Amino acid sequence: MLRRIGIIGGTFDPVHLGHLRTAQEALEELGLDRVLFVPAAAPPHKPGREVLAFQHRWRMLELSIAENPHFGLSDLERRLPGKSYTVNSLRKLNEEFPGAKLFFLVGMDAFLEINTWFLFSELFRLAEIVVLRRPGHGEGDVEDFLARKVSGDYIRDPSSGVFTHPEMCPVHYLRNTLLDISSTRIRKLVAQGRSIRYLVPREVLSYICEFDFYALGRDTGFPSARG
Ligand code: ATP
Ligand code: MG
Repeated sequence: MLRRIGIIGGTFDPVHLGHLRTAQEALEELGLDRVLFVPAAAPPHKPGREVLAFQHRWRMLELSIAENPHFGLSDLERRLPGKSYTVNSLRKLNEEFPGAKLFFLVGMDAFLEINTWFLFSELFRLAEIVVLRRPGHGEGDVEDFLARKVSGDYIRDPSSGVFTHPEMCPVHYLRNTLLDISSTRIRKLVAQGRSIRYLVPREVLSYICEFDFYALGRDTGFPSARG
């Protein structure tokens, strides 16, 4: 029976080693039984850009997590009708895993705009939020943000570094290894005909090459440089 479940949502276009390593560190640091990757079906926050079809983003995740028994994949957001809203996904996961404690892993960049998400304050009641650090921001930003946008009643426990609240779930700040990798950067490198080796798992690299994803046109002039 799963008691402590980490959830990492995202577009995963494509999944990269920043996601995977950070999820592994969260797993160990928070003593999770599993981390579930939940790719967004129709990302509400990516206007103006074509996102790769769900099946391809799914397949790359599947290839990436295959050998890790603590990682799982959920097609929840494809099953839910309409746009992918995290609040709906967390509600659904609470139903699917009764009795389990949910930990919602979210990168600092996404966390600092979480107040723009649909019914955002509900998120802080549905799961313990785990802020993953990314280059450029620190713990002070989490503290500020909570006080300004969520509630003035969070208190930081100095020994654990956890922000606790009388009614809402605790909020964590994970001191994960800083890996300055993003899917945006990977897509750009591919479009420039440059290598993405060591930024994504080997299987993802092969998959991207096989389908010729992210290239500006088929003829980038550097077809072999992506290896
Ligand atoms: P994009 O550049 O397209 O926004 P991304 O690399 O941010 O892609 P997402 O699919 O948007 O990837 O991210 C899913 C979640 O993982 C988000 O909460 C994001 O902040 C987090 N995340 C992404 N990359 C890292 C990283 N290198 N370290 C820690 N967290 C990350
Ligand atoms: Mg992102």
